[in-house]
Amino acid sequence: MYWDNKFESMPIEELQKFQLNKLQETVAWVYDRVPFYKKKLNEMGLTPDAIQCLEDIAKLPVTVKNDLRDNYPFGLCAVSMKEVVRVHASSGTTGKPVTGPYTREDLEQWTECMARNLWAAGLRPDDVAQNAYGHGLFTGGMGFHQGIDRIGCAVVPTSAGLTERQITLMQDFKSNALLCTPSYALTIAERAEDMGIDVKNLPLRVGVFGAEPWTHAMRKEIETRMGIKAMEAFGLTELGGPGVSFDCENQDGLHINEDHFLAEIVDPETLEQVPLGEKGELLITSIQRRAMPMIRYRTKDITRLTREPCACGRTLIRMDKVFGRTDDMLIISGVNVFPSQIESFLLDFDEVEPQYVLVVRKKGYLDHLTVRVEAKPEIYAAGPDKEAEIEAKIAKHIKGMLGINIRIRLVEPKLIARSEGKAKRIIDKRPKG
Ligand code: ADP
Ligand code: ZN
Repeated sequence: MYWDNKFESMPIEELQKFQLNKLQETVAWVYDRVPFYKKKLNEMGLTPDAIQCLEDIAKLPVTVKNDLRDNYPFGLCAVSMKEVVRVHASSGTTGKPVTGPYTREDLEQWTECMARNLWAAGLRPDDVAQNAYGHGLFTGGMGFHQGIDRIGCAVVPTSAGLTERQITLMQDFKSNALLCTPSYALTIAERAEDMGIDVKNLPLRVGVFGAEPWTHAMRKEIETRMGIKAMEAFGLTELGGPGVSFDCENQDGLHINEDHFLAEIVDPETLEQVPLGEKGELLITSIQRRAMPMIRYRTKDITRLTREPCACGRTLIRMDKVFGRTDDMLIISGVNVFPSQIESFLLDFDEVEPQYVLVVRKKGYLDHLTVRVEAKPEIYAAGPDKEAEIEAKIAKHIKGMLGINIRIRLVEPKLIARSEGKAKRIIDKRPKG
């Protein structure tokens, strides 16, 4: 029924026993092998015996991206290079890249986690799966490749980019599944329209999208525009890439592969755990990885957890669709604003395309936000008065919802750069430092 019936539907008590065992093993593993962790635990007066029950995880120190950067590239690696068989790395746009080394066993587990994800999305051996995640250092390309291969679909490793060719191959190969970022899916949908091809008439049935925040509204947009089911994948380089959590057919939160990843939600200020169901920052401890396990890694992603039973029958805990990254949170007139909120408001309006960027400027002491969003061609053609009317309408809607004044600027169609991977949603014009 599921890809891995044993672990995907394990009774909670049994799962938790398994988790405790793996957590204890992992803490001992890093304590013995990674000086960074040993020092940190010792400073807190802890040894691996401190973990007697799952709740004891809260005693452990958290790990942050800077810890990985300070120990770049392999300072946190718990095994020798003899045992490492692969190294991925994150983009590193905001500093040194973050490395992700894998042992053979780590790769195998990753593949299994991806197969669960793709199976739950409905991929089966007779499918043709077009993998348009970037292949290379980025974990997306290889991670999805391994998962599709494990299920036994025909993998078409197009990688990201060359959008017209993606569409031609999709037609020629009769691809049933498309794997890429949600923003790239939208780019593909739009280009197909420009080419006079109706994706709805192609055999494409399902997409598995992830690697960047996207809203329910964006999911609906992609589903209707492409005539497919848009499923989700979540993960990060530090935890081995995609495969941390995934959508089931109910599309009602992402099941976390809990036999591999222990999730907690904490208040990002105090780092105290919040009650189950409340929103906060996701911390993840990888309990089976061996090359570079992470103890209470701060993902910077805001979400919440639920143990409510899911209609699919999986017992794996669910996390909400990620609300945004703490890094991307803006404070406008004292109100916390995430790009995802703006995205869902924009998608309420038929007069604009779901192509937008947020421009943040400093005015005095305050941050000021302008949203540039593309007008639909007919609105643009109708001229400045029409545009001003739509701008005012959207601004009023957002004012009503968030209570803040945001400037909306309609821009001409196709002006905003199209994404082939992770979309850049924020242009930060505030002075640095
Ligand atoms: P980088 O930090 O350079 O973007 P990664 O590729 O490791 O490197 O990105 C991981 C991040 O991508 C996650 O922490 C999260 O913010 C985002 N992400 C991945 N999948 C999703 C998803 N399904 N929904 C929202 N955000 C996601
Ligand atoms: Zn489910």
